[in-house]
Amino acid sequence: KFRLRYAPSPTGFLHIGNTRTALMNYLFAKHYDGDFIVRIEDTDLERNVEGAIESQFENLNWLGIIVDESFLNPGDAQYGKYMQSQKFERYEQLANELILQKKAYRCFCTSEELEKDYEVQVAKGIVATKYSGKCSKLRESEIESNLKLNKNFSVRFLVPEAALNIKDFIKGDISFDSKEIGDFVILKTNKIATYNFAVVVDDFDMGISHVLRGEEHISNTPRQILIYKAFGWKTPEFGHMSLIVDSTGKKLSKRSGNALFFIEQYKNQGYLPEAMFNYISLLGWSPIGEKELLTREELISIFDDKRFSKSPSTFDMTKMKWINSQYMKALSEEKYLEFTKIFIDKDKFDISIRSEKWLNQVLLLFKKELEFAQQINNHLPIFFNNTVITNQTFETLRSICDNEKVIKEFENQINFLAEWEIESIKNLIKSVSEKTGKKGKDLFMPIRIAASSSEHGPSLADVIYLLGKEKILANIAKVK
Ligand code: GLU
Repeated sequence: KFRLRYAPSPTGFLHIGNTRTALMNYLFAKHYDGDFIVRIEDTDLERNVEGAIESQFENLNWLGIIVDESFLNPGDAQYGKYMQSQKFERYEQLANELILQKKAYRCFCTSEELEKDYEVQVAKGIVATKYSGKCSKLRESEIESNLKLNKNFSVRFLVPEAALNIKDFIKGDISFDSKEIGDFVILKTNKIATYNFAVVVDDFDMGISHVLRGEEHISNTPRQILIYKAFGWKTPEFGHMSLIVDSTGKKLSKRSGNALFFIEQYKNQGYLPEAMFNYISLLGWSPIGEKELLTREELISIFDDKRFSKSPSTFDMTKMKWINSQYMKALSEEKYLEFTKIFIDKDKFDISIRSEKWLNQVLLLFKKELEFAQQINNHLPIFFNNTVITNQTFETLRSICDNEKVIKEFENQINFLAEWEIESIKNLIKSVSEKTGKKGKDLFMPIRIAASSSEHGPSLADVIYLLGKEKILANIAKVK
């Protein structure tokens, strides 16, 4: 059975980059009826951010990325704990095993000594500096006496000489020469395992079949494979996804211009989780064919681990918005109304003074237009506020000849309109046209501005109908 994992460090909240990792692992696992696991990599205790774990789970859940196993719902006991901070003893025990087998050793070098060492290398012009291997040559008696003196030590992995050929299922064949890798620390002086060590122990313990992660981890992979080999453990398959970049080609980050970084930001702006799931699945991966609007179920079924892209993918806010607008359009009226109402700025728009029916009619005018639900607030002012006519709108109005004539006729007819119905309002507009001899913009613009105090808005008859006679007469007074 395939088992894949998403292994966040709780140093921050769920963002586009790690969501893509989680989502692809989820699709991969589900396509093969496998398990999707979340493991918390919190060995770097100082860097842990309060609330990060909760936020990760909350947002995954919101997106519909269902976690089969995590510390919240652990699997079989054989898989061990799902949080690294609960496995320190296990890592230490395994590090000791490697020491006994002479595949790792205690390093008593102080940080000052190490720094000096590196400075010497840098001075010699060595770019890829590495540990000299000094402590690997200590005699048993020296080690004994250091231990008796209670000297601090870290544990280093003794990197064997080997040429490593990695078959990455995304990047293809990658070769490494272990000579370039110095003996690296697997247990720090405080006895806490380093990332490279813990990740291997956990992936082994949890029976992970495929490690699918961002390409920033490629350089860790040879170290990790060496550890698997040292233990005689089966190595999982590795795949490294290419970077996600912003529109300027830089790695997507908190500071990336107009692209929001955190999932929470999208949630708060009124993006639909299904739409985000869909868009993010297309970052660095693509299905066969042209179809881009795909449900979770479709994505699970068509997922193909051979269709990851080797080159960076651009996070395209315009496309994200377009996809969301397609999902908004496809909502049932009921769902759309329920969803959009959440995002109305209640401080600005007092919806309590209007009937539900009226509000629904107003909101439905924009169903085909909204890219995300929060945009509804840009459309509501004409229906709620005593909109002040801007100078620009006044100018537009003045630029239309005979606008007074049109407005006067419109006011007259509104005053005498018997039935307040969309159809009769449409007829009224026609009749104003006949009476004044005006058509097109010369007709609509003066009416629109007079009725709603704005030159933009949905269909004129709808606007008039929903504003109501009283409000329209009050608005007309403002342009006279
Ligand atoms: N904890 C690592 C990170 O957040 C994940 C490492 C891995 O997937 O192997 O980048």
